[in-house]
Amino acid sequence: MAYKINQKKCIKCGACVGACPVGAISYDANGNVVIDPKKCISCGTCYAVCPVGAPEVQ
Ligand code: SF4
Ligand code: SF4
Repeated sequence: MAYKINQKKCIKCGACVGACPVGAISYDANGNVVIDPKKCISCGTCYAVCPVGAPEVQ
């Protein structure tokens, strides 16, 4: 189980970037907010703080 941000839903508000306890979320070179699957511990915090439900379990 891993979380991935649905780019069609994400409004790039940045709330999840600061909320992730392991620093797995960042902006990529294109300005999209992405999750590093190697760091993600699937805690669900990004989903909890996201206003649009963009982080999805893949
Ligand atoms: S599920 Fe948790 S560890 Fe994974 S990206 Fe979201 S906040 Fe970070
Ligand atoms: S909290 Fe949701 S809308 Fe905001 S940057 Fe993260 S995934 Fe995108």
